[in-house]
Amino acid sequence: MPERNRRTVRDLRRGNRSGLLRHLYFEGPLSRQELSQDTGLSPASVSNVVGELVEAGIVVEAGAVESDGGRPRILLKVDPGRAHLVGVDVGETRVRVELFDLGLTELARADHPLPPGDYAVEPIVGHILAGLDAVVADSGVDPATIIGVGVGVPGTVEQGPEVLVHGQTIGWDAVPLERLLAQGTQLPLFIDNGATTLGQAELWFGAGRGARNAVVALVGSGVGASIVTDGAPYRGASSSAGEWGHTVVQVGGRACRCGAAGCLEAYVGAEGVIERYGKVTAPDEETALAVLIKAADTSREARAVLDETALYLGAGIGDLINLFNPERIILGGWAGLMLGARLLPQIREAAASYALRHPFAQATIDLCRLGPDAVAMGAATLPLAHFFECGGLENGGLETRGTGAGGSRASRGSRAGGPEPGDPARNGAPKASTSPRGRPAEAAAGRP
Ligand SMILES: [Zn+2]
Repeated sequence: MPERNRRTVRDLRRGNRSGLLRHLYFEGPLSRQELSQDTGLSPASVSNVVGELVEAGIVVEAGAVESDGGRPRILLKVDPGRAHLVGVDVGETRVRVELFDLGLTELARADHPLPPGDYAVEPIVGHILAGLDAVVADSGVDPATIIGVGVGVPGTVEQGPEVLVHGQTIGWDAVPLERLLAQGTQLPLFIDNGATTLGQAELWFGAGRGARNAVVALVGSGVGASIVTDGAPYRGASSSAGEWGHTVVQVGGRACRCGAAGCLEAYVGAEGVIERYGKVTAPDEETALAVLIKAADTSREARAVLDETALYLGAGIGDLINLFNPERIILGGWAGLMLGARLLPQIREAAASYALRHPFAQATIDLCRLGPDAVAMGAATLPLAHFFECGGLENGGLETRGTGAGGSRASRGSRAGGPEPGDPARNGAPKASTSPRGRPAEAAAGRP
């Protein structure tokens, strides 16, 4: 079976390259010797892999350090300018498109506000495509260096043969978003739930760094959570897991946007908080919530609404602790950060009173570090994960210099295939190309 053998060797090499690239990205600059020690690859393998990555311009030298008595050791790092990523946040109030370098430094951004309550699919697709054109033009980057476009959406993303978005609260019913976007761009597309992508960004770059079991709890107009167990996102049978906002905190309680009653979202989502106070007229929810929080300095009623909000949030977090036994709970989202800045001690106290003592003692509750606008950045981690997965080259990564345009750019159907990165033992598995598109994020999460 010479064909099988060739494939296995190639996959093994890609697995090695993927593991090394990921390690260097998060831990670099590092010397070849350190890379060999850290990854367990032989010095010869490291040399080969580094050679390939240097030739492709993905890895560059970053100075040298003295070594004991020997020659100075050359340090290596991933060149952030070698490739680019686009992240799209389809939010509840706007569509935001951001272009980043490989180090996730933002180079350009385009914002399109959405009319309140209007989530019509066609205009949103138009905003995303127009935003893509705008950020490419503004940044001046060569589109050929863009690895892909990650899109974070407020809904469940079904990663089947065709990517479908089910956004019940925004009226999206099996929207074929990838197909619609592909009519206007040739860039590879990666679509996932916005909370999941933000969770991945916090896990890789923010408050979750190093955690294997964490929940990123996101509070905006809506409420969701990204659950990471043993380093990988927990998705459930059809990727809808993490709908924390629609767990019930009050049977027969306030009406929720999902149609049920008494959901957590109806109490702690920005809309729910503002409605319970009921005394603010402001142009948008962010302003209204800011007004309410400010009013709590002097108004007993405003304070009571916030106290109650802390209680509900704490109870909801207690549920997360009891269900998932996370080491970290990270509270974010724009409303989560506004509320948390004032209420975090109260929220912790409430969580303590609702969670079981033992798992509560294992968990920390903190705020997201990447800020409320990190969904676009989170979305950009989807193509970044894919870049790691293919070891920076071939099948959707960058081409090796000199192979010419179009040589190894992935066909859309095959780019998501491939073994998990950093796990050479799995790389002999021959039937990689059938894996769904959700795979890159899944394979990559929690392994910074
Ligand atoms: Zn609900």
